[in-house]
Parts: sequence; C-alpha cells; structure tokens
Amino acid sequence: MLPYARPSITEAEIREVEDCLRSGWLSTGPRTERFEEALAAYVGVPHAVATNTGTAALHLALLAAGVGPGDEVVTTPMTWVATANVILHAGATPVFVDVEPGTLNLDAARLEAALSRQTKAILPVHFAGQPCDLDALLAVARSRGLALVEDAAHALGASYKGRPIGSVGDVTMFSFHPAKNLTTGEGGALVTADAEIAGRARRLRYHGIDQSPENRFGGRGPAAYDVVEAGFKYNISDLQSAIGLHQLQALDDRNRRRAHLASLYRSELDSVECVRPLEEAPYEHHHAWHMMVVRVETDALSTDRDGFVQALRERDVGAGVHFVPLHLQTLYRRHAQEADLPVATQAHREILTLPLFADMRDEDVGFVVGAVNDVVRAHRRRGA
Ligand SMILES: *Cc1c(COP(=O)(O)O)cnc(C)c1O
Repeated sequence: MLPYARPSITEAEIREVEDCLRSGWLSTGPRTERFEEALAAYVGVPHAVATNTGTAALHLALLAAGVGPGDEVVTTPMTWVATANVILHAGATPVFVDVEPGTLNLDAARLEAALSRQTKAILPVHFAGQPCDLDALLAVARSRGLALVEDAAHALGASYKGRPIGSVGDVTMFSFHPAKNLTTGEGGALVTADAEIAGRARRLRYHGIDQSPENRFGGRGPAAYDVVEAGFKYNISDLQSAIGLHQLQALDDRNRRRAHLASLYRSELDSVECVRPLEEAPYEHHHAWHMMVVRVETDALSTDRDGFVQALRERDVGAGVHFVPLHLQTLYRRHAQEADLPVATQAHREILTLPLFADMRDEDVGFVVGAVNDVVRAHRRRGA
C-alpha cells in the first residue's frame, strides 16, 4: 500500500541521533539550541522556540499572544482538531469562519462578520501548505488590534508574496509530526519576531521558570531558578532536535520534489473526469505541498467519498481524509451551525488526500491516478 505520507530519513539523521545518544545529553540542550537558531534563520525571524509537539507550540503561541479566559479566537473548521483544542485549553472560545471553495483556506471576506468585542486573535491554517491571503488577514488584525497567530503545520518552506511563512504574523507554529514536510519524530516550534512573545513562550514551555538574566533568582548558579507562573512541560529533546537539524538542511530539496510530484498529479488528473485538485490562490505565493487534496464530484458517481477512499485502498492507494471539519465533531457542534459553514460542509463530502511525499517516485503518481480513474469508471452514473 502506498501511504498518503511517509517521512524521509537518511543516514545523516541516523548518525546525528547516534552521536546525540553517545554524547550523554538527551534532553533540551546544545542540539536544540542549534536547531532553533537554524530554524529562525531559515524563516528569517530572530526567535524560534522548539517544543515536544506542534500542538504544544500552538498552545504556547496563543498564551504568549495574550489569549486567555473570556476571549474569542476566530479560526477555520477545515483543520486538525489540535487547532481548536488549544483555543479551549487557553480558556478561550473558537469562532469558526467558513473557507474559500477553491483553496479551503479561511475566507478573509467573511472575517469581519465573525468579530466581536471578545475577539482576541485570528488563527488561520495554511491548508495543505498553500498560504492564506495574509495581507487580507493582517489588515483586519491590525485595524482591530488582534493578534495574528498562524497554524503553519503544513507550510514550513512556503512563502506569501516573497515573505517566508513564519515571518508575517505575530507568531507562527510549525509541526514536526512524521507526516509533515519536516519531522523530528514528534515535535513542533513557534517562530516570532517579538522578543516578549518568545520569552513568555520559553518560560511557559518549561514549568514557568524565568531563566532571563534580568530575574535575580533565575539563570544564575546551579540552584537558582524562579517559577513565576504555572507553565508546562513542553520542551523538545535533543534526540528530536538531532533529527530536525538534518531535516532542515534537506527541506528545500524535499519541498521541490513535492512540488514536482504535485505538478505531475495536476497534469495527469486533467484527463480524469469527476476529480479535480484544489485551486491555486490568485496572489503570488510558494506552496509547500504538504498534501495532495482533491475533490470528487460524488453527485456524478454511484459512491460517496468514503466509498471512493475505500475503493482506492483496495487498489493499494492509501488515500486519507483531511479533515473532518471541526463543526461536525461532537465537541464543537455547539460552537457553530452547519448552515453557517456551507463551503466546509460541502467540501467534507468531496475531499480526499492522495499520497504525496518526497521519496515517492514519478511512476507512483501514474499508479495513483490510474487507480483514481479506475474507481471513477467503475462508479460513473449513466448520463451524469
Ligand atoms: C499536525 C497538525 C497540528 C498538530 O501538530 P502535532 O505536531 O501533531 O501536535 C496542528 N494543526 C494542523 C493543521 C496539523 O496538521
């Protein structure tokens, strides 16, 4: 079975982990420091704070941006559950705004209507690795004094109008889960140009201990640490950072490979009826191609989306579904009406994710598209 995602791991990562193990320093240490420096430099911002998961980084990003009890955070339903769960963990309430039909990114034109006096932050997701319209989101954020916190779990290496994702909003989160473009096994990071946000995130990442040199109880001497708030245990280990160091060096090559495979997909899918890739956003951008999401015109077929995915799996194509929109989950039903999110609701009936990862061969694309075509032909309604 060809999986929808698979991490690329080479001898370089394996050797670095081995060296880390032999060094005796396994938890947050010198390799994490190097990884954070390299990541900040890659994105082009002064600060990166690495964590044990992307979810943890997003939780810290919200807290460090000042989100707390009573606040509302405007976000998209087309995302992984972590995006909204951390809003609840911060004591705030998610407010869902519908997505654009072409890109499945948060629809900036619908943003204003979702704002209230409680709104504290806007939390967009760069769906599948394609940047949201950040200028439009920033204009709203700046005019209303809101924080722009980006979930860029899919978008490391992407850029918007020449600016790397991570260098535009107030604080941006990346995930290093094994399915993502860069992996550390599990892991994540936030990046920011704001020293205060970085400092607060760093403190919250490790129990709320103030390690800044200005704190006279922190950062000096072996027994000098000062807990100033109830933080978390969200630090990344050097074993994880060891992997990340080499993943980062290979990232641009691997993302280029993804883009090449995606363009093969798009040209080969051109001749397949009833199946079309998501659309390219009209503004200048560079797509990270984290996932190859397509829409299936199920109205013209005698099977539904789940049946289509199952039929692909029977043909050894490990298709997936990203994502079941959050407003259809039991936990979030009370936060939105299906009727208010018609685009996401309709997309849910049509989207599926085809295999896409850097180590896939060009021939694999032909194999997948052949299977997709097969399933369409087997289920095509007469006259449709
Ligand atoms: C993967 C993912 C996350 C969470 O990252 P983890 O590293 O798995 O905690 C958050 N948001 C989106 C959109 C994701 O795809």
